[in-house]
Amino acid sequence: MSAAKLTVVGAAGRMGRAIIRCMQAGDLAESFTLVGAVDAATCPQNGQDAGLVAGAAANGVMIADALPDHTEVVIDFSYAAATAALAPLMAKRRMAWVIGTTGLSPAELRAVEAAAEQTPVLMAPNMSVGVNLLLLLVEDAARALKGRGYDVEIIERHHRRKKDAPSGTALGLGAAAAKGLEWNLDQVAQHGRVGMQEEDRPVEQIGFHAVRGGDFVGDHTVVFAAEGESVELSHRATTRDTFAMGALRAAAWLHAQPPGLYSMRNVLGL
Ligand code: NAD
Repeated sequence: MSAAKLTVVGAAGRMGRAIIRCMQAGDLAESFTLVGAVDAATCPQNGQDAGLVAGAAANGVMIADALPDHTEVVIDFSYAAATAALAPLMAKRRMAWVIGTTGLSPAELRAVEAAAEQTPVLMAPNMSVGVNLLLLLVEDAARALKGRGYDVEIIERHHRRKKDAPSGTALGLGAAAAKGLEWNLDQVAQHGRVGMQEEDRPVEQIGFHAVRGGDFVGDHTVVFAAEGESVELSHRATTRDTFAMGALRAAAWLHAQPPGLYSMRNVLGL
C-alpha cells in the first residue's frame, strides 16, 4: 500500500510536534508522507520547517495556516473551535480525520458528527492503549459494584498549560463509570467541591477533580470508595509519544474505513 498523504493540524503544539517526531522515527514511518503542517495564522513558527520545530530532522514541510489540497489523512490536535471550524472542509474533501482535540462544546461535537456522515472520523480524548483499557476496566468495576454503596470520584492531573478542565479523558472515564452503574452522567456529575455541605454526599454522584501544575503529561485515577475500603484504578502517561503513536496507528487504520464516527476501541480491537 502506498504511503498516505498526511497533514498534522496544531503542528507547532506539544502534540503536533510529538506526532511529527514519532512519525519520522517510529515503525509507522513508511505508512505516511507528511504533506502539510497546519497551525493558527498567528503561530510564530509559521513558515518554519515542521521537522525542525518538532526537534527532529528537517522534512521540507513548512508550517502554514491552510490544509494542502492533496491531503488524504488529517491528524488534528488543536483547539476545540479550530477543530469544529475544519468540519465542513473535511466533509467536502472526504479526508480521513483523526481528532485528538478535547473540550468541544455540544454544538462543536455536532459539527464533527455531521462531517462523519461524509468521511471517516475518529475522535478519542485519549489515544493511549492504557487509557482505553482503563475505560473498559472502569465500566466493568462500576457494573460489579453497582448497588453496593461505593462512591465514585475521578482525579486527574495535567500540566499548567492545559486549556480544558476536567480533561476529556476524565469525562470519558466518568461516562464509563456511569454506563456501568446505569446512571446519566449529566445528572450525576459534580465538578469540584467548595463550602459547607448541608447533607451527606449523594450516592448517585460522580465527582471530578482537576489538578493543574508543572509538567504532568496526564494522570487519571478513578476511586471507588465505600465504608471500610476503597479501590483505585489509575493510569499515568509519562510521555506524549504514547498519544502520538496512538494517533498515528489510528490514522493508518482510519484511512481504509468508510465514512462514520469511530473510536480508539475500533482501532485497538478492545
Ligand atoms: P498546544 O496548545 O500545545 O497545541 C495546540 C496547537 O493548536 C497550538 O500550536 C495552536 O497554535 C494550534 N492552533 C490553534 N488554533 C489553530 C487553528 N485555527 N488551526 C490550526 N492550529 C491551531 O496543546 P496540546 O497539548 O498539543 O493539546 C492539543 C489538544 O489535544 C488539546 O485539546 C488537548 O487536550 C488534546 N490532547 C489529546 C490527547 C489525546 O490522546 N487525545 C493527548 C494530549 C492532548
